Amino acid sequence: MRILVLGAGFGGLELTTRLATELGDDVEIVLIDRAPGFVFGFSKLDVMFGRTTADAVHHSYSEVVRPNVRFVQTTIRSIDPATRHVEADSGSFDADVLVIALGADLDPAATPGLLEAGCEYYTVEGAFAAREVLAGFRGGRVIVGVTSTPFKCPPAPSETALMMHDFLLERGLRESSEIALVMPLPSPIPPSPAASQALLAAFAERGIAWHPERIVRGLDPQRRVALLADGGELEFDLFLGVPTHRVPAVVAESGLCVDGWIPVDPLTLETAFPDVYAVGDVTSVGTPKAGVFAERQASVVADRLIARHRATAPESTYDGTGICYLEFGHHRVARVEVTFRSGERPNGRFEDPSEALLADKSEFGTSRIRRWFGKQWTSY
Ligand SMILES: Cc1cc2nc3c(=O)[nH]c(=O)nc-3n(C[C@H](O)[C@H](O)[C@H](O)COP(=O)(O)OP(=O)(O)OC[C@H]3O[C@@H](n4cnc5c(N)ncnc54)[C@H](O)[C@@H]3O)c2cc1C
Repeated sequence: MRILVLGAGFGGLELTTRLATELGDDVEIVLIDRAPGFVFGFSKLDVMFGRTTADAVHHSYSEVVRPNVRFVQTTIRSIDPATRHVEADSGSFDADVLVIALGADLDPAATPGLLEAGCEYYTVEGAFAAREVLAGFRGGRVIVGVTSTPFKCPPAPSETALMMHDFLLERGLRESSEIALVMPLPSPIPPSPAASQALLAAFAERGIAWHPERIVRGLDPQRRVALLADGGELEFDLFLGVPTHRVPAVVAESGLCVDGWIPVDPLTLETAFPDVYAVGDVTSVGTPKAGVFAERQASVVADRLIARHRATAPESTYDGTGICYLEFGHHRVARVEVTFRSGERPNGRFEDPSEALLADKSEFGTSRIRRWFGKQWTSY
């Protein structure tokens, strides 16, 4: 079986690791990504707030050393799901099974004024550049603002606001600063009322202004105001923005998308095309766009491909669950376990912030890097 995996993020890395470990040389696996290496989403925040360095959080794909996985660093230019044929800068690829794990691309230019007057911190480059801006910030009005939906890791803007508070406090700048959080959601984490309540209490305690059900549609660079979709305006000295998300252009042109994302069977992750699967942020499977969900979906696809290879009935199905760690600042992390199942109300179980959970979060990252890259690593 020739398995072609497009995208070496959470989904692609988990899938290739599982297949390579459990099927050995029986399959030919090709993994393609345009980037030289992997960076966790949460590492972007750690770099931005000066807790670690860009080099320390970069995991080079050259370290994915498995004899039966060929990693190719190249940009994919076209995908034909009917023939499972892929064209890339380095040549063409054909597969018996194609898995699309290309994530969501970010488009900061889609928000007027964001690039001139603000910082987007969702791309690797944007977050690393924001570190310099933060290092030179002398206090003032800070906005953490979301510019469109859907967006990755819905808790991340709340974490950013809390980490911003600590950052300013440590530098003696909190008294001379204001922090506002602008989010399209009605509560910080809608499936978990307990997590939302804890976050709202933390915002209130720290004097962080919470603006729910609002979205930033642009920045006015001259007046230094954020223009909200409902007509409101908020002044800022520093704007940290979550940019527009969309599928990579190559996916949009593949004919796989409906309403902007790839629809999949919510239990099996199969697309409408035979032997073509899609996992993670690139899909409209119904779970939030986050690494933990991408990883679990990849694991289901791995189970099903392993069963197929062993000529047994594929039993594994996707259950829509995931665990998110929430940075509360003050060296404390909370945990929420959420479930999104079609036909059911999403729900979540919340564990209060603690130092013990900081260790759990660290192990979450460490264990992935050990499994995917075969090396030791600690997040910071
Ligand atoms: C600030 C921040 C904090 C976050 N914190 C968390 C967290 O704590 N927990 C969590 O679970 N999630 C978190 N996330 C979300 C998480 O990073 C993503 O949801 C996750 O990476 C999605 O996995 P994926 O496999 O679908 O796609 P990705 O990991 O985005 O991988 C897609 C890959 O496809 C490649 N690619 C795209 N187009 C092409 C092309 N044309 N040619 C070749 N390669 C291409 C990209 O280079 C990329 O490596 C966070 C995100 C951000 C921005």
